[in-house]
Amino acid sequence: MGEHLEAAQGRMERAAELIGLDDEIVAHLQHPIETLAVSVGLRRDDGSTVPLKAWRCRYNSSLGPTKGGIRFHQSVHLDEVETLAFLMTMKCALMGLPFGGGKGGVEVDAHDLSTMEKERLARGYVRAMAKILGPDRDVPAPDVATGEREMAWMVSEYSEIAGSIQPHAFTGKPVALGGMAGRTPATGRGGHIALEAMRDLAGLDEDGGLTIALQGFGNVGRWFAKAAANAGHSIVAVADSSGTITNADGIDIESLAEVKAQEGKVTAFEDCEASDEPADILGTQCDVLVLAALGGVIADADDARQLNCKAIVEIANRPILPAADKALADAGIEVVPDILANGGGVTVSHAEWVQGRQGIDWDEEDVADYLEDRMGDAADNVREVMQECDTDMRTAAYAVALRRLCAAISAHGTRADFGKS
Ligand code: GLU
Repeated sequence: MGEHLEAAQGRMERAAELIGLDDEIVAHLQHPIETLAVSVGLRRDDGSTVPLKAWRCRYNSSLGPTKGGIRFHQSVHLDEVETLAFLMTMKCALMGLPFGGGKGGVEVDAHDLSTMEKERLARGYVRAMAKILGPDRDVPAPDVATGEREMAWMVSEYSEIAGSIQPHAFTGKPVALGGMAGRTPATGRGGHIALEAMRDLAGLDEDGGLTIALQGFGNVGRWFAKAAANAGHSIVAVADSSGTITNADGIDIESLAEVKAQEGKVTAFEDCEASDEPADILGTQCDVLVLAALGGVIADADDARQLNCKAIVEIANRPILPAADKALADAGIEVVPDILANGGGVTVSHAEWVQGRQGIDWDEEDVADYLEDRMGDAADNVREVMQECDTDMRTAAYAVALRRLCAAISAHGTRADFGKS
């Protein structure tokens, strides 16, 4: 087992012990049901071909078809894909969705690719993985450096291979291809709903505006910031890969979004102090630090000791590694964990999948209500376990997920290979 997966499972084991879960259930969740590793030959625009490493992991399907994004990033590797698929298993269970967990990725720097190259890669990935994909088997979605456009190419390739139109084989598609109005903002908006639902338990004042430092101003960070600013919170610092900008009086998010869209970097925004060090955001004095960029940004106790916040919201997947957990707890910094804080994305993906099966479009208001309700229920369940077991938010979130997984795994009975069909 990879080191990241093993470390992530330590958190699950802590929760399992707390609620007295059967060892067999924990053992059942220790390995993925299947991971396909392939080499995708990418034809470059100059006619040459490069082989790229790619993976798709279906971690566990006890609750339903596996579900999770596909990322294009130079740091993608097998252990990371399996760890993220494990997290999706916990996330879908916590959110009460009829999905198992999956994840995919290609080891490539998406900034190096032209639009045509991205299209060939998206289609090549689907051809290589088609045998384990499908609307009732494994349903991908956007992730790091993939979005509506990649999902459109992928669903079109999949339908070609399947010989039938299957819009619900992928989520996060453009509305024109059966996508869901509200899917793109869903992860960021859901992060804000989670923050509001848990602010008292995160040690924050229950009323009034909070000061927020935000790492990441891509799709997810931007939508979180809009929702938080509309609710009266003050975004006092924002970082992207170009650096960190700070303004103690609050940053105007709409104007910042325009500058980022035009110039490609937050440091081009005036009216702020700017540094070219993205990591400066971590030491910003604020009520809440929101991590909406990549994984592993708080990797250990030393990283944790630099922080100057009361609480953290993890909107990226695994921005805090388990090695930092104890130092954060010692410092009294409560964490709204990724499987709750970014559960809004897969929740609206579920609505999109249902829409594809039904063949009837949902309206935007119903999508927003569905997101609010699911996030609210998950937050209430976590709150109950925190109080019942006197534990931290992450452990409680894992406990809620494990209870649901346990019921499904037990109900499946002894057919150990039910995940594969
Ligand atoms: N990539 C997103 C996540 O990590 C969305 C997954 C999905 O919608 O299936 O939660």
